[in-house]
Amino acid sequence: MAFDYGKFVSGGLGKQLATTLGLPRPTTLRRHTAGAKLINGAVLVGGHGDTPVADRVKTLLADAGVQVATQASTSVAGVVVDMTSVESPADLETLRAIVAPALKTLAPTGRIIVIGRPVEDAATVAQAAARRALEGIVRSIGKEMRGGGTANTVLVAEGADDAVDATVRFLLSGRSAYVSGQVVTVGKPVGSVEAPTDWDKPLAGKVAVVTGAARGIGASIADVLARDGATVVCVDIPAAGGPLAEVANRIGGSALQVDVTAEDAGAKIAEHARARHGGFDIVVHNAGITRDKLLANMDADRWASVLDVNLSSILAMNETLIPAINDGGHVVNVASIAGIAGNRGQTNYGASKAGVIGMTSALAEEVRAKGVTVNAVAPGFIETEMTDKVPFATREAGRLMNSLNQGGKPVDVAETIGWFSWDANRGVTGNTVRVCGQMLLGA
Ligand code: NAD
Repeated sequence: MAFDYGKFVSGGLGKQLATTLGLPRPTTLRRHTAGAKLINGAVLVGGHGDTPVADRVKTLLADAGVQVATQASTSVAGVVVDMTSVESPADLETLRAIVAPALKTLAPTGRIIVIGRPVEDAATVAQAAARRALEGIVRSIGKEMRGGGTANTVLVAEGADDAVDATVRFLLSGRSAYVSGQVVTVGKPVGSVEAPTDWDKPLAGKVAVVTGAARGIGASIADVLARDGATVVCVDIPAAGGPLAEVANRIGGSALQVDVTAEDAGAKIAEHARARHGGFDIVVHNAGITRDKLLANMDADRWASVLDVNLSSILAMNETLIPAINDGGHVVNVASIAGIAGNRGQTNYGASKAGVIGMTSALAEEVRAKGVTVNAVAPGFIETEMTDKVPFATREAGRLMNSLNQGGKPVDVAETIGWFSWDANRGVTGNTVRVCGQMLLGA
């Protein structure tokens, strides 16, 4: 049986040893369950100068039944700081003055969210410096957090404040358990922002297509989208037909056996969704493979198969799927941290996943007029059959080398994909968000 460091240090001798030696001990993360409260405790809301976004956040919290605190005197579960009005580095003191005392009383699995404006829209060089500084502060706070807490930055373009609610809700909730040290950009909304009737069923009435849904992260994406109200078309290769049918039956969706690299894959998916469900609103390109070898030993087959499944198939399927997707839909691609930081033995995989990130931002602009958003998740170390194959030492390093001192779960990736697919989330497009517990690689 594989050695599990997290389990070892959670009790008995392992716990004693970890305490004595000052070794990291992972906290059980707060994960979303249907009907769960947005956050368990009060949220401190503050900011510098004019705070238009903080004012929205206070309303949002009141709507969600969460108490708003204006001072860190009592223990808080989260902190939201509106720094959209910073002019120069001197203004950053406000952020220090709010967050420093709050960190001392922040409850376990706490949340820090800092809101700014995009650097490229700054009016002066000093303002650009101050805006960019927010990222450095928050990434560092993420590394100082204890007890399974996360810290993230949200950059809201001028005029896009009404599109920020979905992101603030996501980052405060248990849905973002393994998302830390990230920068989310909220821009001019693609179409109109629509708050759901029920924030617990943000995908009610939607039809979603998920590739690679028979197991691992794909099966979890299907579960989460269904839990949140969507009908899911589960796609996988014929060889995975058994487990694929199990997933589809479990969630009341439909199963479609198709290899994503087949020439007619896009057409088959679009036709199945039309015939069975009257169309589709969400596409999640999750199917992916690895065929690792150092580049010196990499043959053309390993090279081509990974690029075909992970990248070229998505480009080809989109030729059919984008014209067929309902207006106002959402496309989500699954990239990887290996596409950002690179990885030894994974030139083929790194190429495919970096390509997915490039495709995501370009496609987002291309389909804006159709009201479709396009985003990507870049998972870090997620516990699946894919990571079970990783050699022991690399696997333990992958588990621990992040701010949360543990591997993520497929559901963490799935929740981020779910949030990208909300109609309330129309300002986030062209983003790649890492679900990596703030992994030290490629940070
Ligand atoms: P997995 O191997 O457990 O599951 C992948 C699924 O995709 C399988 O059901 C497989 O049958 C299916 N699939 C493979 N080729 C296909 C094809 N040609 N057509 C249709 N379906 C196909 O992998 P996973 O860990 O769940 O990974 C899911 C995605 O997440 C992949 O894109 C992977 O690259 C990415 N990812 C995973 C991790 C991780 O830590 N597990 C990290 C970063 C990125």
